[in-house]
Amino acid sequence: MAQVKPASRTPIPTRKARNGTLIIGGGFGGAHVARLLGKAGATIVNPDASMLYTPLLPEVAAGAIEPRHAVVPLRKMCPHAQLIRGRAVALDEAAHRVRVETDLGPVDVEYDRLVIALGSTARMLPIPGLAEHAITFKSLGDAIRLRNHVQRRLDLAEADPANVARYLTFVFVGAGYAGVEALAEVRQLVRDTWRHNPDLLDTTPHWVMVDGGPKILAAVPGRLGDDATRRLTRDGVDIRLSTRVQSVEAGAVTLSDGTSLETETVVWTAGVTAHPLVARLGLPLDGQGRIVVGPQLQVDGRTDIWAIGDCAAVPNQATPDRSDPPTCQHALRQARRLAKVLAGKEKPYRYRSLGQGATLGRMKGIAYVSGVPLRGPLASMVVRWYHVSQVPQLSRAVRIFADGLFSLVFGRDCVELTISDYVPEARWRPVEQQAA
Ligand SMILES: Cc1cc2nc3c(=O)[nH]c(=O)nc-3n(C[C@H](O)[C@H](O)[C@H](O)COP(=O)(O)OP(=O)(O)OC[C@H]3O[C@@H](n4cnc5c(N)ncnc54)[C@H](O)[C@@H]3O)c2cc1C
Repeated sequence: MAQVKPASRTPIPTRKARNGTLIIGGGFGGAHVARLLGKAGATIVNPDASMLYTPLLPEVAAGAIEPRHAVVPLRKMCPHAQLIRGRAVALDEAAHRVRVETDLGPVDVEYDRLVIALGSTARMLPIPGLAEHAITFKSLGDAIRLRNHVQRRLDLAEADPANVARYLTFVFVGAGYAGVEALAEVRQLVRDTWRHNPDLLDTTPHWVMVDGGPKILAAVPGRLGDDATRRLTRDGVDIRLSTRVQSVEAGAVTLSDGTSLETETVVWTAGVTAHPLVARLGLPLDGQGRIVVGPQLQVDGRTDIWAIGDCAAVPNQATPDRSDPPTCQHALRQARRLAKVLAGKEKPYRYRSLGQGATLGRMKGIAYVSGVPLRGPLASMVVRWYHVSQVPQLSRAVRIFADGLFSLVFGRDCVELTISDYVPEARWRPVEQQAA
């Protein structure tokens, strides 16, 4: 177990969680628990002051939704909760304490009830060159970076036609929700931008989807994956299933089917793994490194610790043969059940998904709602409507709706947010070179 270190010379300040309930992780699961606890209150520990609405990230990357609109301020979303901005780093179960690293130094937060909702991180494999050259797609920064990167490849292709194949080959690895939607949405951005780069009109970008499994959207039950495959193939996407990445270099990727593609764009969305802190808490874990919880979401063998979301292996009475997949839909339903359990209304967790869907570019989508298949504009509208309706703040939902409407009428916003690139460059370039 990760132990809280013995006190250093300066005593570490101690705080008590509001109403005794401490939630570590203010993402989808944690923030909803705090919101649903209402006036009872809780303390949330989270590095950022807002919750990221991840299903909107592909549209943020594609310029269909403003980056700011995809995040919800935690203080507004959970007005009765106290927010400690920082990272939980250790748990002392015997003392009922969590150590948190904040900008002002470490703080120990005491709890009576602890909720762990730390989420997941991108599953990076030991593939040569992957960490150095691939772009991850998990945070708001990743989405902005991807968008800037793609816009720059278009300009480079125009300026350096001899290497056009390298600039205009876009490889997405991992055909889950994130990979499939990101490819389709960024492809739409490129289509909308194309006419502004007239020298590229005779060229065709090469979109490649790579996945080690035999199927797209394999983790999503039902026929959604087959529909997505048909739709993407019709749009000219080169889909390579049962294929793995063997190495990544600055200008190329080598695949297990023997091909090597010239590319500067490898987007890595090949799954997630439980947050690394989970492995150091001394709690029971399953084979995938997720915290094992029971039907009431309580950690096995503990009476005062619960875990939900991507970092937990959550049994679902509606799907007894498998634990919940890592999706917002499930994290939200688990949060609803947990808020009731914490309020004393004990009942096992049970949730049957009413539908699934994915957006695949402007007015394109696929969805199943109560078993009914939807395609094209209707599916796209249903998926977008679902996301808008799930955003926990009306003002945010209206902004997202308006963004969608504007991008429908005027196309994807193809401005590059250069400021996000400028800052690090200014930091590492010697001052005398900056004027150049
Ligand atoms: C690009 C993308 C698209 C997706 N699209 C969909 C979709 O369309 N539909 C769907 O259902 N699901 C989708 N998902 C999956 C969904 O985002 C997750 O399943 C969901 O966010 C899980 O909720 P969570 O609370 O477990 O984790 P998260 O929402 O990730 O929250 C974890 C929180 O913990 C915080 N944290 C991290 N470290 C610490 C620490 N040391 N101390 C305290 N706090 C910490 C993080 O900052 C974060 O706020 C998508 C995911 C991605 C990346």
